[in-house]
Amino acid sequence: MSHLKLHIPGPVEISQKTFKAFSTPMVGHRGQKFKDLYGRIQPRLQKLFKTQGLVYLSTSSAWGVMEGSLRNLVKKKVLNCMCGAFSDKWFDVSQRCGKEADSLKVDWGSPILPAMIDEKLATGQYDVLTLVHNETSTGVMSPLGDIASLKSKYPEVMFIVDTVSSFSVVDIPFDSLGIDVLLTGSQKALALPPGLGLFTVSKAALERASTVNDRGYYFDFCEFEKNAAKSMTPSTPSIGHIYALESKLEDIFEEGIQNRWDRHADLAQMTRDWAARNDFTLFPEKGYESNALTCINNGAKAGGRIIDVAKLQGLVKDQGIMMDGGYGKIKGATFRLSNMGDETEETMNHLFQVLDECLKKL
Ligand SMILES: *Cc1c(COP(=O)(O)O)cnc(C)c1O
Repeated sequence: MSHLKLHIPGPVEISQKTFKAFSTPMVGHRGQKFKDLYGRIQPRLQKLFKTQGLVYLSTSSAWGVMEGSLRNLVKKKVLNCMCGAFSDKWFDVSQRCGKEADSLKVDWGSPILPAMIDEKLATGQYDVLTLVHNETSTGVMSPLGDIASLKSKYPEVMFIVDTVSSFSVVDIPFDSLGIDVLLTGSQKALALPPGLGLFTVSKAALERASTVNDRGYYFDFCEFEKNAAKSMTPSTPSIGHIYALESKLEDIFEEGIQNRWDRHADLAQMTRDWAARNDFTLFPEKGYESNALTCINNGAKAGGRIIDVAKLQGLVKDQGIMMDGGYGKIKGATFRLSNMGDETEETMNHLFQVLDECLKKL
């Protein structure tokens, strides 16, 4: 079977080792074997999330937990920070859940900054804030540490943070940040097959959830806590994913978490250098470029080279690689190169070599 190597920002390429673990024969999800599996990986998950609390496993894509977090925590009004396709959609999802919601909106390509949030929260209208740490559509990473430091000023506001494309790419220490929900998905930075959400919540978030009547069942934080305490999940999980996760955690701790962060930083810098060498400019505002993927302008901003992105995608595909052609309203005006997951200097250099050759043919 012919396979295109995925260099799109999710789902990303999955290793053979991960696939092998994913296809481990099933066990009963209420039996000791499953509890042993979850029990084995819990300490490693806690180390990665940097939390004393329990890490929950949700059989859903990240959106399940993103929507579920709103349903568990919003009583008054949510402030949705919007700076790209995923964060913009979160505002829409708030409304679809029937929640009172306001948007804090910046232009795509710009980050969310603490002063903007401070000004909004100072009105006292909000009890929940949503933030996408790394906007995968624009390649912008907002300054999470600075934003999280607002939490001490607004302890009653629940800070929900999506780290789908930044988790394990950069250090995100849940307990010391003091935020309330940290969530990620399987198919991006963790390089697992799509379909698993991973998250942890603060004690305050569990307390808030327990007072919300219509939080539903499937994503009920209280159910996740109660079950995780017994190394179980509320409903039957995707067990294959959890074996794959165990295998991936082995990889991560074998490499060393600091080495993993450094590798992503180096590979993202290589990608920015490749763009500069080829007369392309970057879409993100300077200083906020993601370490997980690079969003490159196709003449959308002054000074950049202009190419036929769709044609480039086709040529790159002929060489066995799937690349991205821009997301949502910046499709064609940008394209994105991912260095998330298992990429190495060697695989990135191969991508650049293929791109160089294909650019000559445009
Ligand atoms: C991909 C992505 C999501 C959505 O993930 P699904 O797995 O499709 O639910 C949410 N947030 C960010 C930042 C993403 O990159």
